[in-house]
Amino acid sequence: MRLSEQQLDRATGVLVGTAAGDALGAGYEFTYPSADTRILMKGGGTFDWAPGEWTDDTSMALCVAEGLSASHADLDAIAAAFARWYDSNPPDIGNQTRAVLSARSTTAQAMAARAAGLSGRTGGNGSLMRTAPVALAFLDDAAACVDAAGAISDLTHHDERAREACRLWGFAIRHAVLTGTLDGVRLYLSEAEASTNNYWSPLLDIAETGTPADFPKNGWVVHALQTAWWAITTAEGDVPTTLEYCVRAGNDTDTTAAIAGGLVGACHGASAVPNEWVEMLHGYPDATAADLSVVTRRIIGATTT
Ligand SMILES: [Mg+2]
Repeated sequence: MRLSEQQLDRATGVLVGTAAGDALGAGYEFTYPSADTRILMKGGGTFDWAPGEWTDDTSMALCVAEGLSASHADLDAIAAAFARWYDSNPPDIGNQTRAVLSARSTTAQAMAARAAGLSGRTGGNGSLMRTAPVALAFLDDAAACVDAAGAISDLTHHDERAREACRLWGFAIRHAVLTGTLDGVRLYLSEAEASTNNYWSPLLDIAETGTPADFPKNGWVVHALQTAWWAITTAEGDVPTTLEYCVRAGNDTDTTAAIAGGLVGACHGASAVPNEWVEMLHGYPDATAADLSVVTRRIIGATTT
């Protein structure tokens, strides 16, 4: 697909924004930073990350990216990439994802069937955190973007809300890359089934007018999306402030910041992410920010106008 220089910057911002939020939040995961805490790209945290090191959110987004190419999502390739990541023995794998990937399914169908067989809570934020790159493969087709985002969510999260969240976020990220706006979030719902719109629109209203205390269980996909949308709309277009707000909301800080980062990166571009952060970014599979750019260009088959 032919993109303008601005669109290519925004496309690159999808993964760079995800990784920057993830790495910023990594050192604060499961904590609630006090108001006078400076939020820094410092690493540490539960799993003793290096400064600038991303976590499972970006690592799994790169697994998704492995199966993406222009106008195509190879679900078996994504499932295989998830399995390879699982075999690398990551320290921070989510409970639900672990329950699915521990079966070592080798096909997408078997992996999704394993996910469908899980009982109990299935609506963790673990599929939304990795959904951002799906938009890059389907810049030419909004409906296909939405379908793929839902199917990739289903690989590990057999859950209506997780699926809907990924469809909504994928649509919004695609729209942001193309237009440089956040309008896709509401546009998606205006065109969705009434039941979907009726569920999510009031939740977005609460996110825009409320505080993190209104959506505190952000390990749940619904509160995670609300936290991200609260940070995005409260920060009014400043990318580092958006990611900082996610961290200040507390709890699953790396994931809410990764989710927000995918969308604000798409809207404002990789160039809106502070250079001193970008230079520090690294993580599984032995990649840096430069590799995120290479992956992005490969998926979209980038040529610029
Ligand atoms: Mg994480």
